[in-house]
Amino acid sequence: MERSFSEEVKRLALGHGETFHGEGILAVTKALLQSGVSYIGGYQGAPVSHLIDVLGDAKQLLNKLGIYFENNASEAGAAAMLGASINYPLRGAVTWKSTVGTNVASDALSNLASAGVTGGALVILGEDYGEGSSIIQERTHAFAMKSQMWLLDPRPNLTSIVDAVEKGFELSEASNTPVMLQLRIRACHVHGTFQCKDNRPPQFSMSQPLENPVFNYDKICLPPSTYQHEKQKIEARWPAAVNFIRDNRLNETFDNGRCGNVGIIVQGGLYNGLIRALQQLGLADTFGNSDIPIHVLNVVYPLVPDEIAAFCRSKQSVLMIEEGQPNYIEEAIHAILRKADIGTRLFGKDVLPVAGEYTGEVLVAGLAKFIQQSQPDGVAIADAISTGEALTGIRLKGAQALGVPVPNRPPGFCIGCPERPVFAALKLMQKNLGPVHVNADIGCHTFGTLPPFNIGSNVLGYGLGLASSAGIGPMMQNRVVSIMGDGGFWHNGFTSGIVNSVYNKHDSVLVIMKNGYTSATGTQAIPSSKPADIPAMLDIEKALQGVGVKWVKTVPSYQVSDMVKTLSEAMTTDEAGLKVVIADGECQLEKQRRIKPLNAAKLKKGERVVRTRFGIDDDVCTGDHSCIRLSGCPSLTVKANPSPLRTDPVATVNQGCVGCGLCGEVSHAAVLCPSFYKAEIIQNPSRWDQFMNRIRKFVIDRLAGQDRRVPAWN
Ligand code: SF4
Ligand code: SF4
Repeated sequence: MERSFSEEVKRLALGHGETFHGEGILAVTKALLQSGVSYIGGYQGAPVSHLIDVLGDAKQLLNKLGIYFENNASEAGAAAMLGASINYPLRGAVTWKSTVGTNVASDALSNLASAGVTGGALVILGEDYGEGSSIIQERTHAFAMKSQMWLLDPRPNLTSIVDAVEKGFELSEASNTPVMLQLRIRACHVHGTFQCKDNRPPQFSMSQPLENPVFNYDKICLPPSTYQHEKQKIEARWPAAVNFIRDNRLNETFDNGRCGNVGIIVQGGLYNGLIRALQQLGLADTFGNSDIPIHVLNVVYPLVPDEIAAFCRSKQSVLMIEEGQPNYIEEAIHAILRKADIGTRLFGKDVLPVAGEYTGEVLVAGLAKFIQQSQPDGVAIADAISTGEALTGIRLKGAQALGVPVPNRPPGFCIGCPERPVFAALKLMQKNLGPVHVNADIGCHTFGTLPPFNIGSNVLGYGLGLASSAGIGPMMQNRVVSIMGDGGFWHNGFTSGIVNSVYNKHDSVLVIMKNGYTSATGTQAIPSSKPADIPAMLDIEKALQGVGVKWVKTVPSYQVSDMVKTLSEAMTTDEAGLKVVIADGECQLEKQRRIKPLNAAKLKKGERVVRTRFGIDDDVCTGDHSCIRLSGCPSLTVKANPSPLRTDPVATVNQGCVGCGLCGEVSHAAVLCPSFYKAEIIQNPSRWDQFMNRIRKFVIDRLAGQDRRVPAWN
């Protein structure tokens, strides 16, 4: 049972003049419906998964409007879906996490951008950059520039985000170019309001289908059309985009007439952070009115040279705030100023960090440096600088007071995760067979590279664990192991990894984590999921057999001993070719979501509910904590030794335990110690439970030397 989004779906039906309250990414969803979109697709990934989740639950509303929605098999599939807008006046939108998703989609995007579009095509990108990011630190800006697609980066408030969606479609149609809408994590999750419009049924839709297919060779990405496409991009589409951006004032200038000798140009997505930093320095009021003029680039590509020249012309100094590297915008503004013969001094990465997220702290420090060097008119410069130093010094003072560095808090598996036992088994297998090279993959299982497991020497991309074994496998004396999730299997792993491995006769071992969902992105369904309302769909085992993998064994994830045995067999068998071990265990997060409401309903009806908990016997625990090192479960922790004769802290299981049984399994598989016990907590016990409880109590009391009689049955 996946999470339900029924409340969010209700908000998508709001009409003209009603106020939408909610998250930025949900506002995007509503804006799509207001824009007359014909089709929507995407692939889940933070921070845009919510868009897909909500639309997945809004089938009734989408059907009413005739909108087609698809949860695509990959970002490449989603991008290819936009092909519908090349020849037809169909508005389409797709979404994914960038830059990783854009990497996957780039082939289709190049072709789409070359052919150009007739109907508006919008790519909504969750730009996962910065300190909360889970991916390599790159920018979508580079993709926009190399394929000539326009890139919107609206101010993070709901009205601006909704405007960007609506204007994005118009810009796309006015310039026959696909448009990217970039939303940072904070923009996706910003809360606010906007005034709704009625949802707009698309001109052509599932209810109003197109009658005549179009063939136009000019739109095919083959020479000589591609040569024409390139010319069109430069001679027609780009100027049309610049004119549209200028005429529709997509970029904004805020100037209250103070500090006329300096200015700031900022990417729209950083506007809120900039205003907060200015407020902290005493240079903006509570309502966000800045003393320093600000030019906001809600469209970061293409730039509008005359707007930038007009903003800079009367100023001695301008600061460009551009997050990430390379500094494409700053370099472009240098060129614009030089060509327009404007002598304004441009600051940027000289006062701000070259790389990394521009957090409030970073912006305060950078602005203070800019103010010191540019000397804005009418600003109490010394005050602003000392405020900046005081603010940025707080962390330093805290660290000095603490005396030791604050340790990093790495992410980790959920309590009871079915992937943790597989890594414990891999550790135990290596204890017997010696060290093994492991190729890691993308998914929750990437946490296996972190302590206490530290398993996985490289990560090359989603579903590419096995593909990345192709080079190292033949160079290793022992077989190598690759990890792949079931999400990665269907995304890319089946063709790039398994088919390639069979075709090239690789002799290696693959572990597939079959937890049933793309768990890391919010437990969305995948082709092999078995959601309650859909009959069992595609089958991993059959897919493997279908392409000729002969050695396939499925082992329940929590059975650590069996897993060690099977992994060892895969590593040592004489059988050549790919050996696949499927670790079968449902995502614990999703399992708990499924079980908890069922148990709550049973308890309400007075029915018997049994919960399993594990515990550790204080008297038996030796305090060597090898169980913690082999399990890594956050519920498994330490406490002071209750024995006055022993000082080592003993292991203990806290209240977070979901009773997965791994700690006991690991202790058994590794022959650690007998201190683990399993307890069943029975709520609403039956008469038999109560009777057995009395018998057990009686026996225990007798063994403990207390002579009590079996109490009477009540
Ligand atoms: S979401 Fe599921 S698969 Fe991912 S770490 Fe949590 S329990 Fe494990
Ligand atoms: S049984 Fe052990 S490993 Fe599983 S959740 Fe409880 S403490 Fe963690």
